[in-house]
Amino acid sequence: MLQDKDRIFTNIYGMHDRTLDGAKKRGHWDGTAGIIQKGRDWIIDQMKASGLRGRGGAGFPTGLKWSFMPKQSDGRPSYLVVNADESEPGTCKDREIMRHDPHTLIEGCLIASFAMQAHACYIYIRGEYIRERECLQAAIDEAYDAGLLGRNAAGSGWDFDLYLHHGAGAYICGEETALLESLEGKKGMPRMKPPFPAGAGLYGCPTTVNNVESIAVVPTILRRGPEWFASFGRQNNAGTKLFAISGHVNNPCVVEEAMSISFEELIEKHCGGIRGGWDNLKAVIPGGSSVPCVRGEKMRDAVMDFDYLRGELGSGLGTAAVIVMDQSTDIIKAIWRLSKFYKHESCGQCTPCREGTGWMMRVMDRLVKGEAEVEEIDMLFDVTKQVEGHTICALGDAAAWPIQGLIRNFRDEIEDRIKAQKTGKLSAVAAE
Ligand code: SF4
Repeated sequence: MLQDKDRIFTNIYGMHDRTLDGAKKRGHWDGTAGIIQKGRDWIIDQMKASGLRGRGGAGFPTGLKWSFMPKQSDGRPSYLVVNADESEPGTCKDREIMRHDPHTLIEGCLIASFAMQAHACYIYIRGEYIRERECLQAAIDEAYDAGLLGRNAAGSGWDFDLYLHHGAGAYICGEETALLESLEGKKGMPRMKPPFPAGAGLYGCPTTVNNVESIAVVPTILRRGPEWFASFGRQNNAGTKLFAISGHVNNPCVVEEAMSISFEELIEKHCGGIRGGWDNLKAVIPGGSSVPCVRGEKMRDAVMDFDYLRGELGSGLGTAAVIVMDQSTDIIKAIWRLSKFYKHESCGQCTPCREGTGWMMRVMDRLVKGEAEVEEIDMLFDVTKQVEGHTICALGDAAAWPIQGLIRNFRDEIEDRIKAQKTGKLSAVAAE
C-alpha cells in the first residue's frame, strides 16, 4: 500500500487547510523558481524519465506530448489548456484536486506552461462544477496576490497568466478539440485531426491539452525526481494514481495509490470490500463508463494499470474510475443506461455516431426487456464495430465499447432474457 510520505495529494479529503499557507506548509510552491530556471529541456527530459502517462484516459506519455510543442515560436503564442471537464460517468477524481488541493494544479500550470513556452494557460472546468470553480478561482486569486502568478511569476522571470473558464455542461467538451472550440466561444464540436493541437490548437496556435491530474503531479515529480515517481507501478505504467471507486463496495472513495496495485488490494484496503463479499461481485467497469465491463471473477487478481487491463482483459484503465457492480445489478439495463447517455451526448457531426448511438440504444432498449431475437445480438455487435474507429472523435468508440463488453461477457444473460420473454417467465425487474 502507498505510504503517506509518498502521496502527491496531501489534502485530497479536505481535512487540512487548502489555502496557500496550508499548501506551502505541505511542501507545495517550494523552490518553484529554481525548477523553472533549470530550463525547458530539463523539465521535459525529467517528465519523460518519470514515465508519466496522461491521466485523462488515453494514457499518452506526458513528456513526449510536451515535446511536440514548437521550440522556436513562429510569431504565434503557445498555450497550455487544462482539461477539467471530467464528465466521464463514474469519474470524480479531478474535482477533489480542484476543491481541496488546488495549489498542486496551479503550480503545475506554471511549470508546465513554462516548459511549453506558454505565457497563458486556460483551465476549462465543467459546467456542473460550481463549488469547485469557486475554490479554484479563490486559489488562483490568492496566487496572484502572492506574486506566484502574473509578471515574473513566483520570481522565476517568466510572465504567466492563468484563466479559469467555466463550461456549460456538455460531455463532448471533454474531448480536447471540442473543448478548444468551446473555449473559442463556438459550439463544442470536435475537430478533424490533423492538424493536431500542438500545430494548430487554440485560436490556431500551438496548444497542449492536459488533464488536471497530469498537470497537478508535475511539481512533485520534479521536486522528488523522476526515479522516485517511476519506482511505483510496473514498467511503462509508472507512478501514483488517483482511483475513484464507486458502486457496490462498502466504502466508495477516491484514493491515491501506486499504479499496478491489484484490484483486490485496492478494494479491501480502501473500500472495505465488496458489498456482500467477493462471491457477490458481478461485474466491474475499471476505467470510467466508456471502457468495456469485465466479469467479476476475472477482476479479483487484476493489475490496475494501462497495459494489464487492456492486454489481458480487453478493457482499459481510462480515468481509473472503477465502477463496481454486485449480483443485484441488471447488467443489461446498466449498459443500456450508458448507451442512452452516449446517444444524448453525441454532437451529431458524423453519421456513424449520430445514427449509430441512437440505433444501438434502441436495440439495447429491447434487450433490456428481452423483446428481441437471439440473432440480433450478433447484429448489434456488428454495428458497434461499424461505429468504432469510424468517427471524428472517440465518442463513437465510447458508445460502442460498453456494448461490446456486455456481449462478450454476459451474452448468456442476454439470451436468457430473450428466452424468458418468449416463454412468459420474465422477472419483474427486467420487465419494468
Ligand atoms: Fe460528434 Fe460523435 Fe462524431 Fe464525436 S463521434 S464528432 S461526438 S458525432
